[in-house]
Amino acid sequence: MIVRGGSVVTTEGVLPADLEVQDGRIAAIAPELPAQGDEIDARGLAVFPGLIDVHVHFNEPGRTEWEGGATGSSALAAGGGTLFFDMPLNSSPCTVDAAAFDAKRAALEKVSYTDFALWGGIVPGNRGHLGELAGRGVIGFKAFMADSGLPEFPRADDRTLYDGMCTAARLGLPVAVHAENNDLVAARGSSIRDYLASRPVIAEVEAIRRAAVLAKEAGASLHIVHVSSGRGVAEALEARASGADISIETCAHYLYFTDEDMQRIGAIAKCAPPLRPSAERDALRAALLRGDVDIVGSDHSPAPLSMKQGDNFFAIWGGIAGVQSTLAVLLDRGCRPERIAAVAAANPAARFHIARKGSVAVGNDADFALVDLDGTYTVTKDSLFQRHGLSPYLGAEFRGVVRRTVLRGETIFQDGKIAGAPRGRLVTPHATTRIHT
Ligand SMILES: [Zn+2]
Repeated sequence: MIVRGGSVVTTEGVLPADLEVQDGRIAAIAPELPAQGDEIDARGLAVFPGLIDVHVHFNEPGRTEWEGGATGSSALAAGGGTLFFDMPLNSSPCTVDAAAFDAKRAALEKVSYTDFALWGGIVPGNRGHLGELAGRGVIGFKAFMADSGLPEFPRADDRTLYDGMCTAARLGLPVAVHAENNDLVAARGSSIRDYLASRPVIAEVEAIRRAAVLAKEAGASLHIVHVSSGRGVAEALEARASGADISIETCAHYLYFTDEDMQRIGAIAKCAPPLRPSAERDALRAALLRGDVDIVGSDHSPAPLSMKQGDNFFAIWGGIAGVQSTLAVLLDRGCRPERIAAVAAANPAARFHIARKGSVAVGNDADFALVDLDGTYTVTKDSLFQRHGLSPYLGAEFRGVVRRTVLRGETIFQDGKIAGAPRGRLVTPHATTRIHT
């Protein structure tokens, strides 16, 4: 198959070229390749690497009424994505041992339209299961430094986190943390304003510093998920400068919305850490544009409408559903295509040791999205492929229409529709050299 006349987006630049796809891989990239087999007309379109979303909660199996692998992966594909990393919660059971991993893998292999990788969890008492999770092929281990909201996934106290990091280092896998200081997070009152005040930026900053100290001591690679503030990025950069092996993830909603949007939109925009004042949002965006943010994910974490209602904002289930909108938000925020290719594809593949994915390059899987960068659209409930049409982006006008998404050489999304049957496969990290001894 030949993909004809597109502009190939790499981290280095954008160049006009044809692609030759053979057996699901990219066989050649060059101008005016000779005709052979099928042709895809990509004239006027950007050829992005298939986006890799390192942070989603599709809740398969066990809580598919909240989302599910079929709907979640459809939404990802519609947004130009070809691979997601599913968090160890809120599926049931949570991915804290091999049996739970096997159940999730089996469930997702039946329903996922995109490839997937799985995070394992670090919770008090499961240290003995980290080795078997590594053996199954988890991408890394996730821990919560503040309450997760889900009783069966308790937060990691400092000892649990440090011990888990030591084990993860021995296994050659990174540890991802939800970085908020649990003692600084204080539920008081019931309003949206009270909720915002209950989770100050300092709770994030302090937790990032502590996690970095523990990870450095343990010899572990540390991934900070959903950094919500410019100060959080600055703290992580300081930790890196002092020798910690640390990667910085933010999520599209922290680049787009502010605390005032949370007050305007309400529960659909509830998340933790919360949306921040515009100064922090703008500092975060500046960090992204400078190249100080490594990875942008979605933290797609949906719930049914019934869980998004109530008078006490603290009691309402948190989580923003945005897996389909990451590319759009990055374009909206002024991110150049090369930078998008880095933070949403190449960097995730490199950081988490995924072979043959993350860039449009000869020998890699033919995972890519054809995007009309001049096309515009308005986000409506009908345009979303997730299970529930609850999104803070409803009504937003975006530039950059995904015309087609291709996974290992097969079209999985085209012109507003999912194509073909679910054929997602488990992706595992390739073996890494251990630094720690
Ligand atoms: Zn999350």
